[in-house]
Amino acid sequence: MAQPRPLDPIPPGPWDVVVIGAGAAGLMTCLDLPAGLRVLLLNRNTGRRSSSRWAQGGIAAVTRPEDNASSHAEDTIHAGAGLCDGDAVRLLVDEAPHCVERLQRLGMAFDRDGPNLATTLEAAHSHKRVLHVQDQTGRALVDVLRERVEERDGLLHRRGVRVTKLTVENGCCSGVQVLDGRLLYTVQARAVVLASGGGGHLFANTTNPAQACGEGIALAWQAGAAVEDLEFVQFHPTALRLDDAPCFLISEAVRGEGGVLVDDLGCSPVAHLAQGDLAPRDQVSRALVQSMQRQGVGQIWLDFSAIPREQAEARFPTILDRCSEFGLNPLEHPIPVAPAAHYWMGGIATNLQAATNLPGLFAVGEVACTGLHGANRLASNSLMECLVFAHQLKSIELGPQQTQVKRSEPSRCDLDLSSGGSSSGESSTGLMTRIEQLRQLCWQTAGVDRVVQGLRQALQQVQAEESWLEQQPLLQLVKDLDHAETLELGDSSRRNLNLLLDLHHRLLTSRLMLEAGLFRRESRGGHFRIDAPVALPQWQCHSRQCLQHGIRTRAVRR
Ligand SMILES: Cc1cc2nc3c(=O)[nH]c(=O)nc-3n(C[C@H](O)[C@H](O)[C@H](O)COP(=O)(O)OP(=O)(O)OC[C@H]3O[C@@H](n4cnc5c(N)ncnc54)[C@H](O)[C@@H]3O)c2cc1C
Repeated sequence: MAQPRPLDPIPPGPWDVVVIGAGAAGLMTCLDLPAGLRVLLLNRNTGRRSSSRWAQGGIAAVTRPEDNASSHAEDTIHAGAGLCDGDAVRLLVDEAPHCVERLQRLGMAFDRDGPNLATTLEAAHSHKRVLHVQDQTGRALVDVLRERVEERDGLLHRRGVRVTKLTVENGCCSGVQVLDGRLLYTVQARAVVLASGGGGHLFANTTNPAQACGEGIALAWQAGAAVEDLEFVQFHPTALRLDDAPCFLISEAVRGEGGVLVDDLGCSPVAHLAQGDLAPRDQVSRALVQSMQRQGVGQIWLDFSAIPREQAEARFPTILDRCSEFGLNPLEHPIPVAPAAHYWMGGIATNLQAATNLPGLFAVGEVACTGLHGANRLASNSLMECLVFAHQLKSIELGPQQTQVKRSEPSRCDLDLSSGGSSSGESSTGLMTRIEQLRQLCWQTAGVDRVVQGLRQALQQVQAEESWLEQQPLLQLVKDLDHAETLELGDSSRRNLNLLLDLHHRLLTSRLMLEAGLFRRESRGGHFRIDAPVALPQWQCHSRQCLQHGIRTRAVRR
């Protein structure tokens, strides 16, 4: 189809499907949607950054004769601490090998071991089943998928377009509202697929990029979709910890190859754990936090010295390069690390067809909660989950044909933060500070270990700030914009609206996560409560939140 000039508004369509997000989940969805559909792919980023692209380790699938699907299923279920839905697990392990074949046909060049695909062992897998491309698997995957997506007939890919709201008509999701440059307007579609990624960036310390801030959950929640298991967050024990440097992930494989953790006194902070340095991520993360608290320091040291130099150079080129950007040489001195939020098991509740409870709305990838991961994700299952559930959309059910709404000519809008409302006087710097304070609050109260009083106080604070923010006239614009209306925002209004949406969506998503953390009065997988430190049989169920019914439990599907 003819591609419009980049600065033109998106043609009104109506489109068959809008896909939100161009990570592994969104790109694979675009390839798997039935041929002949008019597909609009929207990406908030102008650059290529995404969690998918940052994935280092690999993709899990059974490809070796000594391995089998039952073993992959057992490992997944064991990691999930009693909360994996059996149907989602079976779908993933059965479909994963087909997905690998498909990826190879699409052009993905996995590392090879002679005539076979090379596979590696990762924590809690009982067989070598993780396929990789050096330590840049995500990048290789996204590059291949993006190239193929650009070749798809009937697809328009627009970068730098942020979805600000999902529109709902007669109880069905009917399209999206977008902030496209200076323009705010609506795009109609017969189905919307959210593939907007996870929420690690809700926390001050995270391995995730900034756009992984749970925005998809806020959009879906406001439209009426249910969310599940939001209390379960996986904290990776070893992210680089340096002032003014991002928490870059230092892969578990470093410890797999012989790297060891050492505290400020030169002792092992994980000596008491049965599997020591290679114990499950949640156990190692808690041990590190406790050790840092006891010693009043902000980091643990990761010592590479037991790994032969040539082996470390061949196996971890990206990690060594990134460290050297910050003046560190792990081959000479131990590097400072600490736990950081890494993966969100919870998300928008979906069935095996990737459908939410809101007709016309689908969710795929880290934004979704398919029930596969339960309370804790098995390493390298998440990229495969993106691919397998995207493939389910090959038989997507579209809503009815829509009559095209004629968009109005843009009307100018120069509302500012100080225009009316009780929030008069707020500045853009003030909003950025509030976002950072919220990230600190989430880290301190809903991080590696949680306690009821902290969760409660944080929830009250977040609720109060949310009600205050909702008075902002610029946010009201987003809420009230008519489907046919187009607004052209002045520069300052556009910048401030982006910041207000950032803060508002983060507050909403953090609130839902805190509520879920308070609701589950036990510890399991990625949710550890100091005041309720053991797993309880009556809590072997999912948490489910929806606007109409508040928070409840949902039985595990066997
Ligand atoms: C450092 C790191 C290493 C990892 N390593 C592995 C690994 O080895 N193996 C594995 O299986 N998993 C790994 N994971 C997890 C895995 O990468 C993610 O779960 C997966 O990539 C998520 O893919 P996604 O497509 O759902 O989201 P993402 O890749 O995060 O993509 C989300 C997209 O949505 C867009 N978006 C968000 N909000 C909006 C909006 N409002 N409007 C428009 N666009 C929007 C973003 O710009 C982005 O393009 C790792 C994660 C990280 C951070």
